Amino acid sequence: MPRKTAAGFVIFRRICGKIEYLLLQTSYGIHHWTPPKGHVDPGETEMITALRETQEESGLLKGDIKIYENCKKVLNYEVSGVPKIVIYWLAELINPNAKVKLSDEHQDYKWLNIEEACKYSEYKDMQEVLAEFDSFINKECVS
Ligand code: AMP
Repeated sequence: MPRKTAAGFVIFRRICGKIEYLLLQTSYGIHHWTPPKGHVDPGETEMITALRETQEESGLLKGDIKIYENCKKVLNYEVSGVPKIVIYWLAELINPNAKVKLSDEHQDYKWLNIEEACKYSEYKDMQEVLAEFDSFINKECVS
């Protein structure tokens, strides 16, 4: 059975002590909201894919973020009958001057608190990833 693998980052920032998550709205399909991610190309590691796709889709560079490699979740769902695996790591925006720049694949972006991010995400498994990463930030990521 063919399957597709994708990788990306759930990126958060701290604004006046509050945590906000970056979600992008697709310009395709049902215009759902998702963290930056994309398909793993042949020969790429999943981490390289996550960095490349994040740069392509949000304009954020490796040096703009801090990656929490030990905070990782994997989603499994089907797209048009083909199984898709999506690997997400948690990452924090550390360059306050970095600006989000969208590609043609997305039409809007928002920085959202955890409740808003879960509402916009709409898929239960993505909401669980956000909730788990949010707990991780509150327990482990002391600023
Ligand atoms: P994406 O994987 O975000 O590029 O979206 C490809 C298709 O899968 C779109 O039709 C989305 O609506 C759908 N999709 C995105 N995330 C999920 C998910 N967590 N569970 C089920 N379907 C999803």
